[in-house]
Amino acid sequence: TPDVRPLVAGNWKMNGTRQSLTEIKAMAQGVQGPLSQHVDALICPPATLLYVATALSTDTPLMIGGQDCHYSTCGAHTGDISAEMIADCFGTHVIVGHSERRTDHAETDQQVRAKADAAHAVDLTAIICVGETADERDAYQTLDVLKRQIFGSVPQTATAENTVIAYEPVWAIGTGVTPTNSDVEVAHAFMRAELVARLGAEGSRMRILYGGSVKPSNARELMSIDNVDGALIGGASLKAEDFLAIYSVY
Ligand code: PEP
Repeated sequence: TPDVRPLVAGNWKMNGTRQSLTEIKAMAQGVQGPLSQHVDALICPPATLLYVATALSTDTPLMIGGQDCHYSTCGAHTGDISAEMIADCFGTHVIVGHSERRTDHAETDQQVRAKADAAHAVDLTAIICVGETADERDAYQTLDVLKRQIFGSVPQTATAENTVIAYEPVWAIGTGVTPTNSDVEVAHAFMRAELVARLGAEGSRMRILYGGSVKPSNARELMSIDNVDGALIGGASLKAEDFLAIYSVY
């Protein structure tokens, strides 16, 4: 999208121990070149590594984020973390509504929207994930699902600064299978139109990432599709070598 700064974001999911911090260090080093002037880089490690990861990437362009937050500010929610806790560890972003959260924890659009609101309240950028399942795709419901999820999960107060959309077809996550370029193009154009209809100029500049089996070998092609403003990467974000190779397609 013209005048939109791409974002290459990694989601480590439930992977990574202190040993993996060497990868964060290498990533923080690797994103310091001239590319950092016009491409953003973000890693979302597990919450246990958040604080050390931000310390390791201080004074580098690598940003660190959380993988989820609760929609409440604090209180009796054993095992959850709040947006404020992420901000307190110097995180700048938080992923909300990832399909694994929607499936494993039965999160609804309404809850995802509340999580985005909680992120915004402490100045975190919310990366709101949407995407259809294989069954929905087979039933030709992809665009209906995207419309419903964008309507339900994106706060009315979302701006191009505080919100990023990630389109992740559920059947493409961790499978090695990706949609065709034309399917990605159609989905992203549709989401762009929905965002503009909802949010006006903010929607026209809001970043829409593609996620689902992005690898060094397919990133260049996927990132060149209209309205694809970066990537959300799972498996290929665990190793600095792969993450930096994807970052370098820009
Ligand atoms: C993800 O779950 O955000 C993701 C895109 O995973 P992968 O890249 O491993 O398909």
